[in-house]
Amino acid sequence: MGKTVLVIAEQKDQKLRQVSLEALAAARQLAGDGGNIVSVLVGGHVDAAAEQLADHDQSQVVCVAADTLASYDAERYFAAVQPVVDEVKPDVVILGHTASGRDLAPKIACHLDAGQVSDVVAIEGTGAEVTFKRPIYAGKAFETKRFLAGPWVVTIRPNNLQADAKTGAAAPIVKRPYADPAPIRTQVVNVQSKSGDTRDLTEAKVVVSGGRGVRSAEGFAPLAELAELLDGALGASRAACDAGYCDYSLQIGQTGKVVTPDVYIACGISGAIQHLAGMSQSKLIIAINKDGEAPIFDIADYGVVGDLFEIIPKLTAKLREKIA
Ligand code: FAD
Repeated sequence: MGKTVLVIAEQKDQKLRQVSLEALAAARQLAGDGGNIVSVLVGGHVDAAAEQLADHDQSQVVCVAADTLASYDAERYFAAVQPVVDEVKPDVVILGHTASGRDLAPKIACHLDAGQVSDVVAIEGTGAEVTFKRPIYAGKAFETKRFLAGPWVVTIRPNNLQADAKTGAAAPIVKRPYADPAPIRTQVVNVQSKSGDTRDLTEAKVVVSGGRGVRSAEGFAPLAELAELLDGALGASRAACDAGYCDYSLQIGQTGKVVTPDVYIACGISGAIQHLAGMSQSKLIIAINKDGEAPIFDIADYGVVGDLFEIIPKLTAKLREKIA
């Protein structure tokens, strides 16, 4: 018999986040034959994202929308999903391992008295034999876990599982009313975006990242041009952020964001262990560094020893030629 799986989907700027389609694919694997998948989407205005989600085969897409849900807020979002959790009675709940998913998952696990496995990068097997692989020690090792009892709560790292491909389904969209529970103890007063780029670094397929070797804020311009050409996002080492070359929202590493793009281009980054913690799981790593002994080359699939200010413009020009 299959499992009932609840996907807690997310949207950004009224668009469904890619990680939610990855969660849906994971849900399909975990639900098994005869299983049942329900998604829930919470936010200020969720109609557009709900339609995107409903295009994927599942029992229903539940929407909980209200002005007070426009920004993520732990108390409100939990209050919004809790009735759905109680009604669906899921065997498994899946969320993206995102800022809000990480916050919401343990609340749901606590409510269900469930076990939780976080930051999953691979799911293997079916039925009771399913195992979950997750990085530990800042990506230096992996552990494989399995649940001994249900329900299960799982968060998946963006960009690691295949996104769901079962489209064209027109699943029913069910709208649920929402009212703030009382008392509400905190309120988001303002959200100020620090970086002008709205592209989500953790979901980008290509990341062009700059380190201290970029030397200045202006030095990031050729990297930004390359990133844009490849429809990717800009990232940075902590040294580059500390030096004021770019905003901390771009920092990748142990104390920054964790990314697993298809292609990671490290420019003028030495490859300190704290930086590797945030990018070593990238599918293809290209390093450009003028020091042939830089440790980044130990984990790079392709390495170019040379000056990034000569190499990047040439690379961008060549790619432009190819694309044109
Ligand atoms: P550097 O190590 O100074 O390397 C610069 C590189 O640029 C050199 O290899 C040089 O050869 C190359 N270079 C210079 N000019 C050029 C050129 N023209 N062309 C090509 N190459 C050139 N770091 C992070 O990145 N993320 C984190 O989250 C993070 N967290 C940390 C947490 C803690 C607790 C600590 C102690 C440190 C943390 N760090 C983190 C800092 C980390 O240890 C390194 O200091 C940092 O990653 C170094 O950044 P970098 O590689 O840009 O600079």
